[in-house]
Amino acid sequence: MYSKSELEQFVKQAKQYARYGKVADYIPALGKANPNDLSIAIYTRDGSVIAAGDTTDKVTLQSISKIIALALVLIDHGEKEVFQKVGMEPTGDPFHSIAKLEEVQPAKPLNPMINAGALAVTHMISGASVNERFQRLLQFVRKLAGNPEISYSKEVAKSEFETAFLNRSLCYFLKQHGIINEDVEELMDLYTKQCAIEMTCIDLARIGLVFAMDGRDPFTDEQIMPLDVARICKTFMVTCGMYNASGEFAIKIGIPAKSGVSGGILAAVPGRFGIGIFGPALDDKGNSITGMKLLELLSKTYSLSIF
Ligand code: GLU
Repeated sequence: MYSKSELEQFVKQAKQYARYGKVADYIPALGKANPNDLSIAIYTRDGSVIAAGDTTDKVTLQSISKIIALALVLIDHGEKEVFQKVGMEPTGDPFHSIAKLEEVQPAKPLNPMINAGALAVTHMISGASVNERFQRLLQFVRKLAGNPEISYSKEVAKSEFETAFLNRSLCYFLKQHGIINEDVEELMDLYTKQCAIEMTCIDLARIGLVFAMDGRDPFTDEQIMPLDVARICKTFMVTCGMYNASGEFAIKIGIPAKSGVSGGILAAVPGRFGIGIFGPALDDKGNSITGMKLLELLSKTYSLSIF
């Protein structure tokens, strides 16, 4: 399989594309990232990790958290109830788009990967208070990553909370249409903390591996989520995990994956391994430009496409 030196070579090649990207700065704290950073980890089912770049760098999950929150609410409420509030169709629109919200009647966000759908999902996380709901999500993330140390960046959460005007407006739309019924500021508090959960690319890869193994942790043998939940999450990764570049990603790379505006990518090669990447320089669709290049190199070299 892959060697560390080969992976380091790929990282070197992919890094050359960093100059064509730009770090996200609409969340001010993310603007501090170094566009030239790039790290990758591949976690295999036998427990070996091959990594390259500075793997101590931490990335906040941002939109990657949407897939994990979705898994948790599917476990909490079941498929039927969740998909009453959010649809299953890709949009081909940017993640924060407000444009198609009225397309479905009665109103319902088209899928859980666009922000409106993700907010509806976060709303469904069970618990008596924002803190209890967040702690449940955090425990779930820790379990998936096999790392009890994982926490969130208070700085990034605060920075998003103070500037998330568009997400607030999406919440008010959802509230008007009865999709959410909680206080908008509370939901924003929970959502911004969810997005600010941070970890290394090694943790990300380990989570990717659990999805790759249909929800089973290959090291403890625990079925962390039912097979059907893992299957639904991976399907969303394929149809809308890479924003409005998901179609091109499926053709060029063909691996279930979810990206975030922090430059993180979580990928799951079914039955084989999980991949975690952190490269904060983004392309014009909001995906890590160096991360995409890395995945393309890996997929082409080792025929990883599922199609
Ligand atoms: N916290 C970000 C937002 O809602 C996540 C977006 C993303 O990573 O795509 O704007």
